[in-house]
Amino acid sequence: MTNNYIYFIANWKMFGFKNAVNHLNKVITLCKTKKYSKAKIVYCPPYTILSDLCRKIKKTKIDIGAQNCHEANDFGASTGSINSKMIKDAGAKYVILGHSENRSSGESSYLINKKIKSALSEKLKIIFCIGENLEQRKKKQTIKILKNQILKGLKNVKNIKNIFFAYEPIWSIGTGRILEIKQLERDIYLLNKFIVNKYKSNDIKILYGGSVNPKNINDLKNVKLINGFLIGKASQNQNKLIDIIKKTFN
Ligand code: PEP
Repeated sequence: MTNNYIYFIANWKMFGFKNAVNHLNKVITLCKTKKYSKAKIVYCPPYTILSDLCRKIKKTKIDIGAQNCHEANDFGASTGSINSKMIKDAGAKYVILGHSENRSSGESSYLINKKIKSALSEKLKIIFCIGENLEQRKKKQTIKILKNQILKGLKNVKNIKNIFFAYEPIWSIGTGRILEIKQLERDIYLLNKFIVNKYKSNDIKILYGGSVNPKNINDLKNVKLINGFLIGKASQNQNKLIDIIKKTFN
């Protein structure tokens, strides 16, 4: 990696009214302290409050991301959609793509690939989610699944500078269950090896997501080759998010 930030990507999912901007107050204060200067926090709120959060974090080191985008670069007749240009216009710098909750409602790797290309063309940074389900893990297919999702999702994408590989075992999301740390370390090692060989890059960013919380962060933070975390439920509570960040740097 060219920088040594630890990333905390807060995926708020379908939660948050306008007054959720106040949930950033303590985190903004935390970010100003030298001890946490290497914490890069990215809030990914629902579209309705994207601009509000972008205004709120102005003059801070915090960044904002969207939770998805349409695959088209331009405006068009697509009711209910938002494209990467609009996300950028709102002031966001990141977008989560390929989240398993969207894959499970029909988003294919083909579509994710188009979205990634569109977002890259707007110079957005991509939180590219990949992960296996429980059945695939039991059948020891995890690495095969991850490779397949990467190859299809990044088809014809040569430069991975703006791609964050977010490994999220589907069965771990929102369940409170995480992998045994040794096993997670092994999977991340194999994932990293594959990405290094495929993209010949020394700037690889791998995130872990799936039930990250203040109780398991002390174990998760020691997993080698991880550059940060994609955090769902726990990130909606600023005290929990702060706890996670503080423990990571202790
Ligand atoms: C997620 O939805 O990306 C996620 C990691 O959720 P949670 O932390 O709630 O498991």
